[in-house]
Amino acid sequence: MYSCPACKKISINLTTCSSCGVVFKEFLEREMESRREKYKIESRKDLQIIFKWIIFLTFIITTPCIFFAIASGGFIPVAFMLPLMSEGVFGFVVVAIHLLIYTPIFYYLSRLFSWALFEIRSDVIRNSLFAIFIALLWAMTFMPIYSRAAHSTTGPYNLWSIQN
Ligand SMILES: [Zn+2]
Repeated sequence: MYSCPACKKISINLTTCSSCGVVFKEFLEREMESRREKYKIESRKDLQIIFKWIIFLTFIITTPCIFFAIASGGFIPVAFMLPLMSEGVFGFVVVAIHLLIYTPIFYYLSRLFSWALFEIRSDVIRNSLFAIFIALLWAMTFMPIYSRAAHSTTGPYNLWSIQN
């Protein structure tokens, strides 16, 4: 006596259900296949979210943004604006305004890029494009496109020399 996995009724047959007629082996194979498919979709979704946040963080750390402030403006990534928040109420407000503008822009761009990457069927091509994209953003930090002070005549520097 078997309990049918499809209709949950007790079946007197061993291979097919005596109530709903389903073939047990086929039913279970189909169940397993759909579970595998569901797992594949879910793990793709997880990877897409991971890609999105890696792209977002890389944007925040590497991409130069126009920064308006009286004494210390320039062309710096969002992450490099953050320390200025500790410089009094004025610094805090100025940086907060920049964050309110740049953070959503980078977030939606990251979401758009990760979505576009996952439109690509091939795992190898998608992951390679992702790696190249991230590498290019980091390579950008070695180019002289950053500057510290808006009114300064020095610069531009690469990201790793403006700190000096
Ligand atoms: Zn049944």
